[in-house]
Amino acid sequence: MTDVHPTDDARYPVRKTDAEWRAQLDPMQYQVARQAGTERAFSGKYWDHTQPGTYLCVGCGTPLFDASTKFDAGCGWPSYFEPIDNDVVERIVDRSHGMVRVEVRCKRCGSHLGHVFEDGPEPTGERFCINSASIDFKNE
Ligand SMILES: [Zn+2]
Repeated sequence: MTDVHPTDDARYPVRKTDAEWRAQLDPMQYQVARQAGTERAFSGKYWDHTQPGTYLCVGCGTPLFDASTKFDAGCGWPSYFEPIDNDVVERIVDRSHGMVRVEVRCKRCGSHLGHVFEDGPEPTGERFCINSASIDFKNE
């Protein structure tokens, strides 16, 4: 885990200018994915979405979460107990808002996805609390 750094960090293989991100994403997607915002609970399109399929990064299309790992955490955001592969997400210590949390970003484009908590179900015990605005859904 690394400490917090700017989202436009050159470490990410997929890089775009701010203007390009604004053109690609709608305002809510931009605010959440590129400015580490958080959508209101129960406001996103996927918190109660249960179809089988794959959730992709809204910034670069990388498959991030499989619907079979999604569970109802009752929190109003899509929640998963693990990513498709640990290599597709990046974990960063987030000390904003007077808390120490672990931020989750797409490892390819640096888009902010949400946070991971230690109160998830088996088999991982983790809860990836993800913004709907940071992901797209693809049917199987
Ligand atoms: Zn991405």
